[in-house]
Amino acid sequence: MTTALVVLDTAEGLRRSDRELLVLAGGLGGTHVVVPGAPAEALLDELAGHAVGTVHVPAEEPGEGLTVPAVALAEAAARDSGARVVLLGGTPEAKEVAGRLGVRLGAGVITDVVALDADLVATKSVLAGGWTTRCRARSAVLVAALRANSVDLSGHVPAAAGRPRVRAHAVADPAPAARVVGRRALPASDRPPLAEARVVVAGGRGTGGDFGPLEELADVLGGAVGASRAAVDAGWIGHEAQIGQTGRTVSPQLYVSCGISGAIQQRAGMQTARVIVAVNKDEQAPVFEIADLGIVGDLRKVLPQAVEHLRKLRS
Ligand SMILES: Cc1cc2nc3c(=O)[nH]c(=O)nc-3n(C[C@H](O)[C@H](O)[C@H](O)COP(=O)(O)OP(=O)(O)OC[C@H]3O[C@@H](n4cnc5c(N)ncnc54)[C@H](O)[C@@H]3O)c2cc1C
Repeated sequence: MTTALVVLDTAEGLRRSDRELLVLAGGLGGTHVVVPGAPAEALLDELAGHAVGTVHVPAEEPGEGLTVPAVALAEAAARDSGARVVLLGGTPEAKEVAGRLGVRLGAGVITDVVALDADLVATKSVLAGGWTTRCRARSAVLVAALRANSVDLSGHVPAAAGRPRVRAHAVADPAPAARVVGRRALPASDRPPLAEARVVVAGGRGTGGDFGPLEELADVLGGAVGASRAAVDAGWIGHEAQIGQTGRTVSPQLYVSCGISGAIQQRAGMQTARVIVAVNKDEQAPVFEIADLGIVGDLRKVLPQAVEHLRKLRS
């Protein structure tokens, strides 16, 4: 039985990506969890359903620091629990915590993990998504950052375990080297966050700058909207929507690529999607090499038809 430590970035409720980490950890053995503040009652109940034994919290409310307070807490919890594997999410912040934690623990770090075996062999895609590798850390502890949508939650049965015990660690840094002095919320959207969305509709130069049809399709599918770098560079959509080597990495159940040629740098960010549907008016476009379903046509005609059909199916 392997002791696993799951590092969460919330003390409130669990998101799907958090549940994926907990199900993965539960399959390995005993689970400890780190949360960044006083855990909400509902969170403790939910963690009990994942048979979590101990929840590690900071003794004091962490100030407005960057990732360092999270690293200090995770380090204390990892040493206290004797965890053999530390699991984190796949967001840029979680990966930064993973890297720093790896240094502090002398642990091997594997990011963009899509599967982890019981013997801690990780599966991940490398070289811009061109290869899938299986790798194992040679260190005593493994730190692994999991891509969202990698774990099937359908078979999870809530455990009838008691509430986890809460263990506080004094890790406050009296003189942090950096402090957050301001935050600005992005305009609110009803759509799911891109990195965690189960459906992503992405547009490229072929949209001509009109993302309206893509937004309609995303909304009817309950998905998020992403973009190629060409669309972002043209100023048609914000940089936070960019998918690819120099943008976000997504791994949804369904990726609808619209007016995107499918360059290697774009593929690097979406190739592990479970089903890829490509809409492109050029039948020679490289995206069709990786698409499960290809539609050769003008996206301005294809997408509205798809939306209309889906709405009819649902009415
Ligand atoms: C170091 C580096 C990093 C990079 N990082 C990224 C990255 O993170 N993400 C990324 O995406 N790119 C990245 N790029 C850029 C990448 O190489 C491509 O240039 C880019 O992905 C092209 O975007 P696109 O497919 O939207 O545009 P294009 O390559 O111009 O393709 C547009 C496509 O739209 C089709 N089309 C046109 N009109 C229609 C229509 N009406 N209906 C249907 N189809 C239509 C065309 O047939 C064409 O296939 C990077 C490049 C470098 C060098």
